[in-house]
Amino acid sequence: MTQADGLDAIRREIDKTDEKIVRLLETRMDLVRKVAEYKKKTGVPILDASREKAILDRIMSLVENHEYKEPIKSVYSEILKASREFQAKMMEDLPGGQFPARYGLVGGKLSHSLSPKIHAFLFRELGINGEYGLIEASPGELPGLLGELKAKGYLGVNVTIPYKKDIMAFLDCLSDEANRIGAVNTISLLDRFTGYNTDYDGFGMALEAYGIKAEGARCAVLGSGGAARAVVAYLEDHGASSVTIASRNPESAMVRFPGLKCADILTFEAKGYDIVINATPVGMYPDSYRSPLRKEQLEGAGFIMDLIYNPSKTLLLQYSEELGIPCANGLYMLVAQAFRSEEIWQGRTLDRAIISKIMAIISDVL
Ligand code: NAP
Repeated sequence: MTQADGLDAIRREIDKTDEKIVRLLETRMDLVRKVAEYKKKTGVPILDASREKAILDRIMSLVENHEYKEPIKSVYSEILKASREFQAKMMEDLPGGQFPARYGLVGGKLSHSLSPKIHAFLFRELGINGEYGLIEASPGELPGLLGELKAKGYLGVNVTIPYKKDIMAFLDCLSDEANRIGAVNTISLLDRFTGYNTDYDGFGMALEAYGIKAEGARCAVLGSGGAARAVVAYLEDHGASSVTIASRNPESAMVRFPGLKCADILTFEAKGYDIVINATPVGMYPDSYRSPLRKEQLEGAGFIMDLIYNPSKTLLLQYSEELGIPCANGLYMLVAQAFRSEEIWQGRTLDRAIISKIMAIISDVL
């Protein structure tokens, strides 16, 4: 074989490698196109500088031959730049998108809801062109509601009292938690109508923020509605040593929570429980003078959490303070469940530090 033959053979190998690279680049651009379509629908901005840097760092970590690092880095920087420009062009060409991405809260009476403020803050922090409205509906309007909202351009909604259960009849599929809890508070309308329960995660994130561990804890939950089911599911999944339900009607609570101890809320005593959670609406504005338990019933509890956040200090929490029992309201859970809803709607993991920023702003509003 002559030297020229040897060179030709190498060049043919390079040609073959180029063909493979071109096919792979086409696959990559197809994926970039999908991202552009998603961003156009959800209002997410094109440039995500931190993600671009993370991609480049990851690729560099894959390069084994140290000598090739610099040339491969410049090639990849160009690929990322070209992808970004292609995405920007696609965003201009795709229909729609000049309007904000629409989200909202579906419920009965909503005038006191803090959710629009929380989501507006999340949109600002994340650079999303989004809006979040309040959608008051009567029970009769529920059957066609999600279809109508989708037709108006809504990409997702939260659901609150009294529709967390009833809305499930109009969904195509459910997340595992929503299915198990039997209630939905977050719906994605992007493709199929999918229901989630972010109260589960919101409650867990709140406990973590307060430094309270469910593992090994003896827990009592007041009430047996949708919020109680989300709380019980979280406590069971995270190793609580026991969960007791305190209800106005322990017999019917036993049917809804098979295998759990159910007590009468009138005679229930919190002594011996590490965590007591109020999942009833008793004490909520405007009935702020009411408490689900009398002060003496709280004696001896380790930690009291009220899921109510308006008023910020319920009568139950006032009793806890008077008895020197550590306690917290439901505001962190409210913000955390909204944060999880955004993670679902935006299809990505968000920085948890945003929750504390929102807490600082919202606490002033209450
Ligand atoms: P719900 O279904 O209307 O009520 C929950 C349960 O509370 C009922 O099943 C009932 O249980 C008990 N209850 C109702 N009225 C009562 C009364 N007058 N006296 C004693 N018990 C009563 O409400 P939910 O959707 O589960 O929500 C419960 C609370 O949690 C609400 O205040 C809600 O705002 C709050 N929440 C907060 C967050 C957050 O993010 N912070 C999230 C979800 C819910 P029994 O029949 O067994 O007694």
